[in-house]
Amino acid sequence: MPTVAERIASGRFVSFELWPPRSAQSAADLEDALERLSSLGPAFVAITYGAGGSTRERTHDLVVRLVGSPLLPLAHLTCAAHHRAELEDLLCQYRLAGVDNLLALHGDPPLDSLQPLPQGDLRYAVELVRLAREFGFPSVGVALHPEGHPAAESREQDLRHQAAKLSEADFGLTQFFHRAEDYFALVDDLSARGATSLVVPGVMPVTNVRQLARMAGMSGTQIPIHLAEQLQAVADQPEEVRRIGVEHATELCQSLLDGGAPGLHFYTMNKAAATLEVCANLGFEPVRC
Ligand SMILES: Cc1cc2nc3c(=O)[nH]c(=O)nc-3n(C[C@H](O)[C@H](O)[C@H](O)COP(=O)(O)OP(=O)(O)OC[C@H]3O[C@@H](n4cnc5c(N)ncnc54)[C@H](O)[C@@H]3O)c2cc1C
Repeated sequence: MPTVAERIASGRFVSFELWPPRSAQSAADLEDALERLSSLGPAFVAITYGAGGSTRERTHDLVVRLVGSPLLPLAHLTCAAHHRAELEDLLCQYRLAGVDNLLALHGDPPLDSLQPLPQGDLRYAVELVRLAREFGFPSVGVALHPEGHPAAESREQDLRHQAAKLSEADFGLTQFFHRAEDYFALVDDLSARGATSLVVPGVMPVTNVRQLARMAGMSGTQIPIHLAEQLQAVADQPEEVRRIGVEHATELCQSLLDGGAPGLHFYTMNKAAATLEVCANLGFEPVRC
């Protein structure tokens, strides 16, 4: 099976982020999303990890279930709030189960938590990249932040850290953002600093105004004024929010592809409909088996 790094280097692609289920309802949503999104033949599906271990088994079980299926899993793993031995144990279990692809992350507290995560033994995601290499992972990705990481001391320091991290990884996946120019500026800046691994843009079609505001607040993503005004005007009309979200995401994705982005990574929130609509608008056709 090719790795994520190999798949994203071999032509235009889509990929999807999914959560491990928390309840019977979210398990049903996930199965529906998996089935419908798989029709697009994604390069990979990324499975999130609750920092501190809140989804440890559920992430592991979903990732391992997908090994050998037509959907290539990318296992997220966060180093915050974990001891080194716990990380080593998880990495070892993944390798034994045939998992080749890891997204090495620091981790954030859940959206509804007011507490910061405790420090783990590894301070930064780049240290988890190195640990994953020790366990023989052939394909390791990292998170990148086109608008800068909100906790960084300065933009310059942050870019330096992002470039150093990407240089040790096989690919980067970005935080979601709303302006294509932020992605291209990041790619240019990282490449000028010698970090040339592929950078995949992350796109989140907006379907829920409150969720967007919370996620944007945590990730430091700016919502452009014209989009915020459009969404605010229809905040209590879910269908209109979705229509605007799909329209905006389609335009953003088209600009990214036109500008040379290698493919598109969608934050799906375990719902297929909006992502499928954006992909259809862009001409991504279902794969026939
Ligand atoms: C594609 C993607 C997927 C994600 N998936 C998850 C998930 O599944 N679970 C989850 O909990 N979170 C997830 N996140 C969120 C992520 O954990 C947060 O954005 C987190 O705050 C930063 O993670 P990082 O891996 O970029 O951290 P790091 O690279 O460790 O950076 C964190 C901060 O430390 C600074 N820094 C880095 N290196 C150094 C250094 N050597 N010296 C000093 N400062 C340094 C950086 O500038 C930054 O401010 C995801 C984010 C993205 C973009």
